[in-house]
Amino acid sequence: MKPNRLIISLITVLPMVGCQSLPGQTNKNGTATTAITTQTSYEDIADAVVWQHPENESHYLIATLEGDGVAIYNQNGKEVAQTEAIEPLAADLAYGVPSTRGAYDLLAFALEEDETIGFYTFDPKKTAMMSAAGDIKLDFAPSGVCLYKNPTTQATTVTAISEDGTVVQYKLSMQGSLVKSSVTNSFGEALPVREFNVGGELSACIVDSSEGTLYIAEQNVGIWAYGADVENVKERRLVDAVAPLGHLVEIEGLDLALQENGAGVLWVADEGAGLVAYSRSDDYEYLGAIDIEGFDEVKLVTVANNALWLGNTELDEPVYELASYDDLEKAFSVSQPLDASLSPRDLTVTGVTLVRTTDETDEVDDDGDAADDSAFWLNPDSPEDSLIIATNKQGGLMAYNLDGEELQYHEAGEPNNVDVRTIQTAKGPRVIAAASNRDLNTIAFYEIENKAGVDPITPLAVTGAYVNEDEPEAQTQLNEVYGFCMGQIDSETYAYVNGKSGTLEQWHVELNGDSINAKPVRTIAVPTQPEGCVVDDKTATLYLGEEDKGIWKFDASADGSADGELIIEIDGDILVADVEGLTLVNDNNQHWLLASSQGNNTYAAYDIAADYKLVGTFAIIENGEIDGASDTDGIELVTGYISDDYPNGIFIAQDWYNIDEQYQVENQNFKLVSWADIVKALQ
Ligand code: CA
Ligand code: CA
Ligand code: CA
Ligand code: CA
Ligand code: CA
Ligand code: CA
Ligand code: CA
Repeated sequence: MKPNRLIISLITVLPMVGCQSLPGQTNKNGTATTAITTQTSYEDIADAVVWQHPENESHYLIATLEGDGVAIYNQNGKEVAQTEAIEPLAADLAYGVPSTRGAYDLLAFALEEDETIGFYTFDPKKTAMMSAAGDIKLDFAPSGVCLYKNPTTQATTVTAISEDGTVVQYKLSMQGSLVKSSVTNSFGEALPVREFNVGGELSACIVDSSEGTLYIAEQNVGIWAYGADVENVKERRLVDAVAPLGHLVEIEGLDLALQENGAGVLWVADEGAGLVAYSRSDDYEYLGAIDIEGFDEVKLVTVANNALWLGNTELDEPVYELASYDDLEKAFSVSQPLDASLSPRDLTVTGVTLVRTTDETDEVDDDGDAADDSAFWLNPDSPEDSLIIATNKQGGLMAYNLDGEELQYHEAGEPNNVDVRTIQTAKGPRVIAAASNRDLNTIAFYEIENKAGVDPITPLAVTGAYVNEDEPEAQTQLNEVYGFCMGQIDSETYAYVNGKSGTLEQWHVELNGDSINAKPVRTIAVPTQPEGCVVDDKTATLYLGEEDKGIWKFDASADGSADGELIIEIDGDILVADVEGLTLVNDNNQHWLLASSQGNNTYAAYDIAADYKLVGTFAIIENGEIDGASDTDGIELVTGYISDDYPNGIFIAQDWYNIDEQYQVENQNFKLVSWADIVKALQ
């Protein structure tokens, strides 16, 4: 298998977090005792996973026996089933995996000798409880396996790890009760959607489905946190390292306890350090390490809702023992709860509508974070010949046609956000685009045309008193220009440019032959970093997103009040920081404000006419060979008939993580979505 170099290049080691107390120390906080022991024992135990009953407190412990198959225990430690049909090393479980026929609770097993991931559906109402559900053949012996179901899209993947550092992830689809890889080669063989090499020996993995984080234990190095979503990988972080850099010694097992209000505990079983806990909510704050009475080593940890199952592996007859969260909290002497009050079963996000993308643009010229924002010029004479103008913040402005094909790449500056307005002149309408240029802290202006033989984007020089000394662009007083939008009030055209400091400058813009006259008319501000903005020309309202706080409303007039009103606050549920791009619908049917809720990869629509009441939220998901949009910066929406593909308008979203049909990383691009599909889905 060819490693994906792009993914590897995205992986940057960031400074270690969460190790505020004496790395390298091996002092234990205390010792916990266990209450219940599994009633049977086997020569070896390797890993386990808990299936939690949906309606009551009961659960089952599904334990892999490394040679003796799989044993299933109830919450009192009584063995209720055992099979020797498979010899797995590790196990994981995902609830409610969608299938062509209902949904299944799905087990995945790492079958080391067969070099396979084996799948079983789990149903305790059946006598054997487990039913074979297919497998995926690997070309290495897996040492661990973990399942991830995206709570918004339900997309499910399985990740296998190996002792030589390999990580592979497959996207799953279920036909009836049979699991298959969604991506296959021409022989029908499973193809991974992601693969990379961590480096050293990998001993365990677990996915936090609520945050989309894949934790991987590199046994003698530390615990890494990766993005779990193949469309949202980003860079990895080191949760904690082995001594002397960190608190760990030899990492054997991982599990995660989810709690209400977004908190949680990352549990680590470490052969030398004991049972170790980290708070998930606070940059992996190290909570300490404890011994377990009667255990020589703590190598296996499995989270149940009311207690932790710990593998006592060094006994002649190894068993699992249950330690209550009360006892654990005392042994760790922490004030915060260590329990698992939120079942992964209840993670399903409801209320987010899924909309399939219609098309996508060509990828941008630069890798990494490059594509940012777009604007749309609706060609009134020939809507099919409308243009998408978009930014590559590393180097220029693109023009795309409605098929997403790049017609021009105008390389100049570092344009961040872009907007478009049509200016009426004595000789007819002319289309002006402008962008915030981070290279010079300026506003750059362009004329937009779609004529045969003419490049769509032509720079327009700025003249007058406020021009940059090197380039004919409007010189702002901002330290770092960032967001940008345009507006037209009483036939006058304005440009609104904000800086990372929170200040926004409003400029008056005039077209004078083939040059632009631009002058600043006023300054307003929000407390912290803004970016996305949009002007509702009909009501002379400026909407401005403060990335960590919410959406502000200002009078957009040059002589309007400088006092804004925070109309929509980030709530961590519907709107999750950062709030990024903003755009509007303003037609006969709808008067809505749309925002990119970057933190949960969704878009929220608010009804302006109903005091910004939430209309709904949607996510843009894959459509055949075109991937969905995630981690979106800028958005744009223009309504009206554009083409048969966009009969009621077009919604454009930057996609942070663009992949091809084989899930190979490409440079970023923009997703194009039929507005009719979004409106239909929201109703
Ligand atoms: Ca496990
Ligand atoms: Ca824009
Ligand atoms: Ca952001
Ligand atoms: Ca931003
Ligand atoms: Ca941006
Ligand atoms: Ca994508
Ligand atoms: Ca793509």
